[in-house]
Amino acid sequence: MAVGKIIIAGNWKMHKTQAEALEFLTVLKSKVEETDEAREIVLCVPFTTLSILSKSLHGGKVRLGAQNIHWEDKGAYTGEISGPMLTELSVDYVVIGHSERRQYFGETDETANLRVITAQRHGLTPILCVGETKQQRDAGEAESVIIKQLQKGLVNVDQSKLVIAYEPIWAIGTGDTCDATEANRIIRVIRDQLSNKNVTIQYGGSVKPNNIDEIMAQSDIDGALVGGASLDPVSFARIVNYQ
Ligand code: PEP
Repeated sequence: MAVGKIIIAGNWKMHKTQAEALEFLTVLKSKVEETDEAREIVLCVPFTTLSILSKSLHGGKVRLGAQNIHWEDKGAYTGEISGPMLTELSVDYVVIGHSERRQYFGETDETANLRVITAQRHGLTPILCVGETKQQRDAGEAESVIIKQLQKGLVNVDQSKLVIAYEPIWAIGTGDTCDATEANRIIRVIRDQLSNKNVTIQYGGSVKPNNIDEIMAQSDIDGALVGGASLDPVSFARIVNYQ
């Protein structure tokens, strides 16, 4: 069950050389040949593997995503990447506002908003990540934190070309998955905030082959953003081919 288009995205973070990426793709491709066309498969990879993967993916079932985009098209911004640099490599998606960017690299709701608008200006679909810390959840603030992230992150954003990923920070990389019904409840809170009710809203946080079926059986969850389990093509294919 889903409301929006189903999108299963892998977030490789800072993993894989070009050779490793190609090896992964060979296995993944062989395992998703029969996958329902209605399920979009996206690999959000490091900048250094975008080029080689874009050549190998050409015309295929798997789409390419980046993990960041700067709001200027060019300039003195050491370490950043621009929209034209991504579109040249047939990138379709870009992860924005991931909790690791917020925690380690000073990303704010305001800079995430600039990046979301810029991604759309270049024809890319932003995957805007929102989610609460354990402390905020324990204090009963999960909903208010997420609503604020959405309100600030979506200023002047076109909701017809947008993906939201609900990623409770305490569930990322911890093996501690958010209960599927609770993830669904929060995703409904998110959907209530949106003017376009058909936006794809993913769940992310320790998604694995053994919990994806239950996650995707929920009424409002339209896909997953998968970190650790997207590094292994067999695991990721099993997630993509959820029952
Ligand atoms: C992520 O990186 O967005 C993520 C959800 O990671 P993991 O699946 O490893 O928890």
